[in-house]
Order: sequence, then structure tokens, then C-alpha cells
Amino acid sequence: MAAVQDERYARQTQLEGFGKAGQERLAQALVLVVGVGGLGCASSPWLVRAGVGRLVVVDPGVVDRPDLGRQLLYTDADIGRPKVTAAVAALRKMNPLVEVDGLQLAVSAENIAVIAQRADVLLDGTDAVAPRLAMNAYGVQSGKPVVFGGAVGWAGSVLTVAPGLPCRECVFADTPPSALCSEAGVAGPVVGWVGAVQAVEVLRLLLGLPLPEGGSLQTVDFWHQTTRRLLVRRRVDCPVCGLGAV
Ligand SMILES: [Zn+2]
Repeated sequence: MAAVQDERYARQTQLEGFGKAGQERLAQALVLVVGVGGLGCASSPWLVRAGVGRLVVVDPGVVDRPDLGRQLLYTDADIGRPKVTAAVAALRKMNPLVEVDGLQLAVSAENIAVIAQRADVLLDGTDAVAPRLAMNAYGVQSGKPVVFGGAVGWAGSVLTVAPGLPCRECVFADTPPSALCSEAGVAGPVVGWVGAVQAVEVLRLLLGLPLPEGGSLQTVDFWHQTTRRLLVRRRVDCPVCGLGAV
């Protein structure tokens, strides 16, 4: 069995910063994926195939026909099924060594502490304000990292929040909520880019690789064909993580 595992993960354990010790760290980890729409579908397969110990996906919704253009875990046969049911079935086929479970509900400020109790890292795959606020506050309070992602139109972004780094509120407090994909549309490959970057961030966190000093927002704009890494700062007056936080 050990030999089979070694063979399955050979291409990544040979990497700098990985090794068998890194693989063991992944195997001990629980990742909570909040939302299995475009971003959750684009990020969770990498985590399952990389061999995280346990992955839990949470989503209240069902698969709808307009989802099929970018939510790669689903097919026509899944239309009308709960997303978590279809996602768990698809993800379990990718790696029998990983425990994959699903919860069909909406994450909120009231339930996140219970849902995320055993998680080591949280990944944001939602496009709604309330669960993101809940994840940000929980991440700051618990010290657990949260990897946020956003995608709309031709553009996307990834922000990792962890102890010592700016929180989501520090970065986006003055930014009006972006339009929903259901209203503004989204190019399918944008969620692929964002989900892949989120998966890399989660792997880096689990492997203990260094985070960018001071925090950074990674962005892509496929309309202008640009990618950027913007430096972001903590705000002392941030109501969530700053000196004024209660
Ligand atoms: Zn903050």
C-alpha cells in the first residue's frame, strides 16, 4: 500500500518544498471548501488528487444548466441534483485515499464555528457576501487560514488571509460587492485560473511554505490579458482584525 501511495504522489513529492514529509502533512489535513460552484469545482480536484487527508464540501444549491459551462465536476445527468452530492461522487472517484464528504447547507456567521471546527484551512468557493464575511471573521478569530477567491466577467482574484496578514475586510472594505456571475456572466476559464491558484495557496499553507510578506492580492484580467500581484496592507482601524476589533 505504501508503495502504491509513493507511486501516486511521485511527481509532487520530488518537488522542492514537498517530499515525503510534505505528503504526510497533507495526509493529516482537513480542508473545508465552502461552495462548489465554479471555484469549488476548479480547486477541489487538485486538493483531492494531491492527497489531502480529508476534504469537506459545503453548498446549499442544486446543479443548474447554466452551471455546466464552468463547473467541471458536473454533467447534464446532474441537473437538479444537490451540488454536494454530485461533487462528492465525482471527487471520490479521483483518489480512493482521500475521504470526501459533503454538507448541503449555507455557511453563515451562526454555523461556521461548528462546520469549520476540525478544518485546518478554509477555501472560499462562494460568490455571496454573508458566507465570506463569516469565513473572514472566523479565520481571524481562530487563526485558521482562509483562501478567498473571486471571479466575474473576464477577471478574477485570490487573497489568502492568515495570522499576521491583512484580512479580507482590510482589503475590500471600501470596494462595493462585485456583481454576481448570474447577473454579469463569467468566462469559464477564469474560474479555472482562480481555482488553481487557490489550490496552490492551500497546498503552500499545508506544506508550511512561506507566505508573501505583508500579504498580496493575486489578480487576473483575461480581457486585458494581465496578471498581477498587488501588495495589500492591514488597516489599524479594521473592524475585524484591527486594533478597534472587538
Ligand atoms: Zn482586517
